Amino acid sequence: MEDRKILVIEDEKPIADILKYGFEKEGFQVQCAYTGGEGFAAAGKEPPDIVLLDWMLPDISGVDVCRMLTEQYRVPIVMLTARGNVEDKLYGLESGADDYITKPFDLREVVARVRTILRRFDRAQGTDGGAGLVCGSLTVAEREHSVYRDGVLISLTPKEYELLICFLKHPRQVFTRTALLDQIWGYDFAGDTRTVDIHVQRVRKKTGLEEKLVTVFGVGYKYVP
Ligand code: CA
Repeated sequence: MEDRKILVIEDEKPIADILKYGFEKEGFQVQCAYTGGEGFAAAGKEPPDIVLLDWMLPDISGVDVCRMLTEQYRVPIVMLTARGNVEDKLYGLESGADDYITKPFDLREVVARVRTILRRFDRAQGTDGGAGLVCGSLTVAEREHSVYRDGVLISLTPKEYELLICFLKHPRQVFTRTALLDQIWGYDFAGDTRTVDIHVQRVRKKTGLEEKLVTVFGVGYKYVP
């Protein structure tokens, strides 16, 4: 966890200084940028392990910087902002941020949140040695029964998880609804094949595999990587 590189993109120098001080004390290598453009360039020059990104920047909005960064790099991003309302939070998270911290913040809390995200990200990347099944932006940590999308844990029910694993492990194989029902719900399950359709829809939506979990008309489903 030590020697991790953190990029702080924050135009208010006193805040950037506090973060730099706090993270250096914790053994991080800290780089500060004071505009969105500068931050984006810094990320390209020396890829950080995590980015702390201010929402209100003088040139490009933090949300746009976030989008630019996540399009180019696989790096976790924590948004910093003075705004605290829920819409902003959701908007920030939709733009690809992994977490959200409101100012004024407690330095220890920021450090703790950053460590948590780095751990989660490491796990998702498999850098902790855990076996992972990777499919595009998805990583499955089977040992933990967890699925990460772009490094962020996604919440799947046990059946949704089993369904996803079944597809990922058998690419291009066509599964009939009945076969899936038997395999995942068991022979004595009282529901019908619509249960499968509903679960497939949910898995598609949660995992972003809308185009890869293909409906085979009149038959069932298959996963096309
Ligand atoms: Ca600012």
